[in-house]
Amino acid sequence: MGASTAYHLAAGGADQVLLLERTLHLEDSATSRCAGGVRYQFATAVNIELSKLSLPMLERFESEIGIDPLYRQIGYFFVLTNPTDVAAFERNVELQHSLGVQTELLDGDQVRRRLPMMRFEDALAGTVHSKDGLADPSSVNMGYLTAARRHGVTECLETEVLAIGVKGGRVVNVKTNRGVVACEQVVNAAGPWAATIGEMVGLEIPIQPVRRQMVTTTPLPDLPEEFPFVIDFAQSLYFHPEGEGLLTGMSNPAQSAGYEQTVDEDWELTALEAAMQRMPMLERAGRQAGWAGLYEVTPDAHPILGPTAVEGFWVVAGFSGHGFMHGPAAGKLMAEFVLQGKATSVDISALDLARFAEGRELREYNVI
Ligand SMILES: Cc1cc2nc3c(=O)[nH]c(=O)nc-3n(C[C@H](O)[C@H](O)[C@H](O)COP(=O)(O)OP(=O)(O)OC[C@H]3O[C@@H](n4cnc5c(N)ncnc54)[C@H](O)[C@@H]3O)c2cc1C
Repeated sequence: MGASTAYHLAAGGADQVLLLERTLHLEDSATSRCAGGVRYQFATAVNIELSKLSLPMLERFESEIGIDPLYRQIGYFFVLTNPTDVAAFERNVELQHSLGVQTELLDGDQVRRRLPMMRFEDALAGTVHSKDGLADPSSVNMGYLTAARRHGVTECLETEVLAIGVKGGRVVNVKTNRGVVACEQVVNAAGPWAATIGEMVGLEIPIQPVRRQMVTTTPLPDLPEEFPFVIDFAQSLYFHPEGEGLLTGMSNPAQSAGYEQTVDEDWELTALEAAMQRMPMLERAGRQAGWAGLYEVTPDAHPILGPTAVEGFWVVAGFSGHGFMHGPAAGKLMAEFVLQGKATSVDISALDLARFAEGRELREYNVI
């Protein structure tokens, strides 16, 4: 969010943009630990519209930014095994169609035919969108950082924001471990740490860090080349091609909030057993690598994007586990806010911070 916002601000004409980052290599960031999935399939109009803005930006990324984002349209395949999810996804597909997103709805037999290497005897239905897929988080992040620098952005690494000065209800400066910067605008793009930055100006920003983890396997010679991103929705269990093997993960519904980023080995075993049940070829695979990272979760699984009660203090955070794919759009929209006073590319008025206090929360069903 920070890199995309900084790039779009500078490309839109802002001078004197500083990008402040606490670490040297972004090693703690959610972006560096992300699975790289990108999709159109969401359950609310605003999330679908964000994808409709963001994914074509990935298609144009190399010509605009100069780095290949490795966007592969392998398709996201949601597999549904209970009637409640089927009914919800039927409604979602209808909404997606009404917004021009041509998701396919499949019955259980079609799911089994399309995924012969998986065990889905209990599948009732599935949905697929062929332009969903994968992109490379590091290439996208580095692409925006490099392009931001080209447009004059100053990137300050190992620079931790410690406090933010507010006078007469508006932002006046930012205090860091390397000194104080006078400024009129601050964009809070601190992902899982965004609530801490909000506290610095006296705002409660309801974003919680929640650990998620995944594993990659050694090469799987029997894996079909066109294997898609598959999600066993009821279990929040997912698989996608990674190198010559697979990446697999399962969200732990009992995971409590906190900044812990070490791998929970018990959960890794539980997840691998569930993965092998669905995909027996994994029994022959080795573990290549495993890691954990932090989702940045809001109460309604939608981001907070826009102005706040403190003048000059903006938030672009809380993407609740799908922020990589919406990063290009979010940075563009945030730059529109800061430079023009309002976001025009997509109507994101529903994503304001005030919605939580005013009881206007949204609901996203397609959360993994
Ligand atoms: C395991 C995992 C898998 C995921 N898979 C997907 C996926 O498939 N598709 C998808 O779209 N999304 C996915 N996500 C979510 C996605 O990674 C995030 O939504 C997105 O990367 C958030 O980006 P961000 O810029 O808001 O936060 P971050 O990338 O975390 O960046 C925030 C930055 O703020 C810095 N910071 C914090 N505090 C301070 C401070 N006081 N001063 C200075 N700097 C500070 C941090 O060091 C960090 O670099 C996944 C996340 C995880 C953890």
